[in-house]
Amino acid sequence: MAMVNRVVDSNRNPRALQARLALLTRVGLKRLDDCVLHFPLRYDDETRICPIASGNSNGPILVEGELIACEVSRRPRRQLVVTIRDGSAQATLRFFSFYPSQEKSFRPGVRVRAYGDLRDGYDGLEMIHPRCRLVATGMSLSETLTPVYPSAKRVTQALLKDSVDLAMRTCDLSDSLSKEIRNRWGLSGFEESVRLLHAPPPDIDSSSVADRTHVVWRRIKFDELLAQQLSIRTHMRKRASRVAVPLRGQGALGQSVLSAAGFGLTAAQHRVEMEIAADLARARPMQRLLQGDVGSGKTIVAALAAARALESGGQVVVMSPTEMLAEQTFRDFSGWLERHGFSVLLLSGNLPRTQRRNSIARISSGDARVVVGTHALLQEDVHFNNLVLAIVDEQHRFGVHQRVALRGKGTQVWSSPTRLVGSKMPEAHLLMLSATPIPRTLAISHYADLDISTIDELPPGRTPIATRLVADRRRNEVIQRVRDACMQGRQAYWVCPLIEESEALQLQTAVDTHAALCATFPELAVGLLHGRLKAAEKSATMSAFQCGELQLLVATTVIEVGVDVTNASLMVIEHAERMGLAQLHQLRGRVGRGSAKSTCILLYQTPLSTLARERLKVVYESTDGFEIARRDLELRGPGELMGARQSGLPMLRFADPVRDVDLLEAACEVAELLLDTDPEAVEKHLARWLPEAREWLNG
Ligand code: ADP
Ligand code: MG
Repeated sequence: MAMVNRVVDSNRNPRALQARLALLTRVGLKRLDDCVLHFPLRYDDETRICPIASGNSNGPILVEGELIACEVSRRPRRQLVVTIRDGSAQATLRFFSFYPSQEKSFRPGVRVRAYGDLRDGYDGLEMIHPRCRLVATGMSLSETLTPVYPSAKRVTQALLKDSVDLAMRTCDLSDSLSKEIRNRWGLSGFEESVRLLHAPPPDIDSSSVADRTHVVWRRIKFDELLAQQLSIRTHMRKRASRVAVPLRGQGALGQSVLSAAGFGLTAAQHRVEMEIAADLARARPMQRLLQGDVGSGKTIVAALAAARALESGGQVVVMSPTEMLAEQTFRDFSGWLERHGFSVLLLSGNLPRTQRRNSIARISSGDARVVVGTHALLQEDVHFNNLVLAIVDEQHRFGVHQRVALRGKGTQVWSSPTRLVGSKMPEAHLLMLSATPIPRTLAISHYADLDISTIDELPPGRTPIATRLVADRRRNEVIQRVRDACMQGRQAYWVCPLIEESEALQLQTAVDTHAALCATFPELAVGLLHGRLKAAEKSATMSAFQCGELQLLVATTVIEVGVDVTNASLMVIEHAERMGLAQLHQLRGRVGRGSAKSTCILLYQTPLSTLARERLKVVYESTDGFEIARRDLELRGPGELMGARQSGLPMLRFADPVRDVDLLEAACEVAELLLDTDPEAVEKHLARWLPEAREWLNG
């Protein structure tokens, strides 16, 4: 009760309101308006009193009776035991933690309402830790179900309920959708819907509100999907009005690149190359995602796009998530392009100052035609002379902010003020590469502003990788296999466990594993690679492994991308059950790059949970990254998928683009309609649902 009073006072006191809002941010509520959309997890029914004699309740009920005894008992453990009686029977209420004040207020003769599970206990009917309050005779019952909100530490139900009540009284609840739209799609009114969800009448089918199948939930889910579509489509429309330099190279340089590479394109590579070429030839910026499984040959396709840009006289930038991958890309691109007179520059993250200044000068003068690097490329002092194409490798590895930087600030950093197209500043064409495919439903809901090309076949001559699941207790057999492989002149990776809680611990584990394996294999040269090594040490170790000086490479998951050593044919992954499926698949893709038969051993710790077993089974059964992603989605649900988290848009809280696909389609249609005819409604809807997306949209 005390809590509720304090909260009510805070309504009049702006400082107290601030303090309350600060607390509410713990449950993701940043503005009072957000409380309107903070829906209950479930409801308690305190609208009617059940007779105690009705006995064992199936779920919590409200009972009311006169208190006839209250004592602190010490057996079997300290507890407050309260006995109440209504006209029908008596029941015992037990509290294992309680305040002295409670004990005092429970005097014989007072009336008590208790809400909880009524059960046949050791000593007759009882309720364990019911929610309890004293009642004056005739005190009315709640007329609506009592909401139970998602909460957090120090954010009490009382605080939440009061904040929601305040929001419902003071915030604008008017509808962002016209009656015609609501009728056409069978949607309930906004105010009516949120009022019902925060305070449902007692006769409602309470399971349909709780499991979100009630008709008002349809409106809420629709609104959420609509907000998402509005933000994506606003962005698309802006993009359509932006300009880029059309790149219409003849493809002759591409032919030379291919002959330098020494192989022909697969049909799939050829197809996506044509899709990209068509985009590049347009005067609006390309925004294309090239997805293809690990090892499907995305790099060469990116290089061919780069070749078209170079033929048109512009500069190209390639951004990679890690230094190691950047170095690998740098080697590939210089091998293919330098011989034709195009200088390729690696802008490493940790260059000495003078060298960095020199590199930056070469980028801004246009002398460096292709610039490869990590997110260090996004730094403010990096300016291009005539950037026409930006390539982001392994785009799913970049966080939301880096993608925002790329789209927004990135275009400023990378724009080329000297060459206007018409009266507008041209932007670079953007090509993103990813081995993590985006399921179709997520593609419409989260990535609608991206065009997608897919490489759906692997280059010829690959021998499939065999995957083995081995319990950690059979480690010795695994060690023998590693020894055999290395003695036969092959090379192997040993991947250390992922320790998400602590980077320091992860590093320590890698160092320990390396020491242990050095002792196990005195006859082998064993290297160590982890994220904390200096760049020079990393590349020294990598080249030693590349040229065969090292036979076994102990590594953290840093080798997930950008390592291409064809002689390595065995990989051991420790604690595979801790890793994500996409990650396991990527790691496994480090072997099987040559013609030798390759094996990936997934060591796991027993016992495995059912889910962990299911997940490992997926990687065991399939070597197709798209299939793995599909089954991962089934096991985890779309909200969890990396793609959704990294799309730069807020996650969907209520709607599920797979289950609610009909609503999603309706939302797409309504979004187009509103954008064409009703900018006020768009503004209002976005302000309510995605206040933060504005920043993203303006990016
Ligand atoms: P990813 O799609 O994972 O980035 P890469 O571009 O690194 O894959 O290619 C993997 C390997 O396949 C590289 O060694 C590359 O040279 C080789 N490769 C790519 N395309 C072909 C092809 N059409 N024929 C033969 N080998 C190819
Ligand atoms: Mg790659």
